[in-house]
Amino acid sequence: MKILIYPHEILRQEARPVEKVDGEFQGLIDQMLEMMYKARGVGLAANQIGELRQLVVIDVTPSEEGPNPIVLINPRITEWEGEESGEEGCLSVPNYVAPVKRASSLHLTGYDRNEKEIGFDAEGLLARCIQHELDHLKGICFVDRLNPVRKALFRKKWPKIRPKEEG
Ligand code: ZN
Repeated sequence: MKILIYPHEILRQEARPVEKVDGEFQGLIDQMLEMMYKARGVGLAANQIGELRQLVVIDVTPSEEGPNPIVLINPRITEWEGEESGEEGCLSVPNYVAPVKRASSLHLTGYDRNEKEIGFDAEGLLARCIQHELDHLKGICFVDRLNPVRKALFRKKWPKIRPKEEG
């Protein structure tokens, strides 16, 4: 398994709700956590490894304090508040960061890996990361949310900086 690189078509597709958290699915969660930590990312959505399932892993804890993984299954943002711009990057768009406008705080509901219903408020980096990863589940990449000028710059720059596809 590897992390798909933009503009892979699976990154453009919507993930399906998860119906069953079985042993195979637990294995997928562990694999995604491992890949996220190895790539030094703060979040990874299942679309990014070619699995169209509503599963996201996140860890925004500074590495000296972590790990503190968050696993979100069938996540939904139910409330948004405020707006702020901040730098984002993506494991599917390596070597590129740009500012994106996001809600500054939110309320999230979903399930954890034990199929327990969860709900919590988030702000700051966690809120940004949740919005970024949930976008992936809808087939949206952060570069789709750049302002028109940055988007045009990105389109010019990306063919030069994108990693070469393997195999
Ligand atoms: Zn991403």
